[in-house]
Amino acid sequence: MSGGFGLHDLPIRDDLRGQSPYGAPQLDVAVALNTNENPYPPSDRLAAALARGVAGAASGLNRYPDRDATRLRAGLAHYLGHGLEARSVWAANGSNEILQQILQVFGGPGRKAMGFEPSYSMHPIITRVTNTGWVSIERTREFGIDVEAARIAIAVQSPDIVFLTSPNNPTGTALPLEVIEQVARVAPGMVVVDEAYAEFRREGTPSALSLLPSFPRLIVTRTMSKAFAMAGARLGYLAAHPAVIDALQLVRLPYHLSAVSQVVAGTALDFTDELLGHVKRLREERDALVAWLRDYGFAVADSDANFVLFGTFPDRHAVWQGLLDQGVLIRETGPPGWLRVTIGTPEEMSAFRHALLHVTGRADRHGR
Ligand SMILES: *Cc1c(COP(=O)(O)O)cnc(C)c1O
Repeated sequence: MSGGFGLHDLPIRDDLRGQSPYGAPQLDVAVALNTNENPYPPSDRLAAALARGVAGAASGLNRYPDRDATRLRAGLAHYLGHGLEARSVWAANGSNEILQQILQVFGGPGRKAMGFEPSYSMHPIITRVTNTGWVSIERTREFGIDVEAARIAIAVQSPDIVFLTSPNNPTGTALPLEVIEQVARVAPGMVVVDEAYAEFRREGTPSALSLLPSFPRLIVTRTMSKAFAMAGARLGYLAAHPAVIDALQLVRLPYHLSAVSQVVAGTALDFTDELLGHVKRLREERDALVAWLRDYGFAVADSDANFVLFGTFPDRHAVWQGLLDQGVLIRETGPPGWLRVTIGTPEEMSAFRHALLHVTGRADRHGR
């Protein structure tokens, strides 16, 4: 037994005392719509290709992997387009490791990072863990960013890193390119646009990748966890000026990306068309859910992501718990009164809609 000995008795860093770890519940439920995972598992064809790739890598596991992941980075650059090459792309174990490496190079004691909240909870967590200061600026009522307020905050705070999440988690809101451009113009340090949900954006919503040639201190991060349905494989990446990639070499652990990860990610890229087909279905399912929720009088934030923020509830925890009691797990996050639901399969969304009507006591007007 622990004998009463606990975290508090250990000589951990003072700045980590009282902090909480990232903690989305991993519960065993019938319908899990809480962590923005992609509901479509690899097809039999893709699973077989992954197995072949891993088998191929297996016989070489006595050797360290390609430290620079050159082949994979070339594949990712090709996928991103915009004339990008391998030397402008970097990959790591999830975009969270990418973010951590960015903080390790450009943040640290005496430095600070700024974010516009509500946004992705890992930005302040990784910031603090690297002993970097965190400056939180509030988003507008519509969950956008007021350019004037951002300019002032940046002028006053002079942050070393500015985080822009677009499409934003947990609100689903995408930023107009002008906002990103204005921030990149005035920011004295690095600007990180977290585009984890880029592939889910609606027609006409731009990506910050097009701004890279104009701003050498701009970084666009992406992940295979969402659109590519590879959350379990842990593969994130970024695009930036090659000098930024050089800077990241100073902090990355040697051979950080295993040979298995590299071959798995490369194989997933070979199935881009198939995987983006699922993304199309999810976008349609999302748009249908937004319309349905509005039809029933719920407030809904416009979404360019694979989830929807909706509300508002005087007691959102009761709604969250009520849904869980029906076997539907969503996320209790976002501004007070709002809840976030990930887009799943048509069957899962049907279960969600059914449970939501039941829990909120709204009549099933459409008989569905
Ligand atoms: C899910 C998510 C990520 C992905 O993190 P991985 O480490 O790549 O799985 C990154 N940024 C945001 C905003 C996210 O919601």
